[in-house]
Amino acid sequence: MDKSLRSVLEDSIRSIHNYPKEGIVFRDISTLLGHPRAFRRSVDELVHPFAGQRIDKVAGIEARGFILGGAVAHQLSSGFVPIRKKGKLPHDTVRIAYSLEYGIDEMEMHRDAIRPAEKVVLIDDLIATGGTAEAAVKLLQQIGADVVAACFVIDLPDLGGRKKIEALGVPVRTLIEFEGD
Ligand code: AMP
Repeated sequence: MDKSLRSVLEDSIRSIHNYPKEGIVFRDISTLLGHPRAFRRSVDELVHPFAGQRIDKVAGIEARGFILGGAVAHQLSSGFVPIRKKGKLPHDTVRIAYSLEYGIDEMEMHRDAIRPAEKVVLIDDLIATGGTAEAAVKLLQQIGADVVAACFVIDLPDLGGRKKIEALGVPVRTLIEFEGD
């Protein structure tokens, strides 16, 4: 990645200490989204590896993955599929439980959102422990999607999320790393 891209991303992401709780550094991309050049460069970089390929669907994880994923889908001329917290989608869904730091949560998508063997790129803003993205990949694979990549603006490499996704046979692409958690 060229230095100017790294610095435009680094400078546009706001770090909020001790949010949502003591000891966490929250990497806030709302400032990146509000910065025209940083937003465009992020989307361009996420799109780049797939330019010229047939990608049937981009799946975005609620909620920040919707904003980035929608823009990426538009650029790739793909459909967009929302992966949502349980109870938000109106039609027949498939659901998966996953572990959070405390307790478990569930995410779901419409059963008919993706046809078997369709090529899907998964998008979220950030990968930390990888638990959220792992569940999303499993959900997609469960309905027969060919998940060609999972892409994130930010990687927190110390938390090891990348390995969890690669273990499912899905390549991971990230644009910028922040050390620590
Ligand atoms: P994980 O399941 O641990 O990989 O967490 C990833 C999800 O939680 C993503 O949807 C992120 O938006 C959010 N997340 C986790 N850690 C952070 C952080 N330090 N700053 C901002 N968002 C985070």
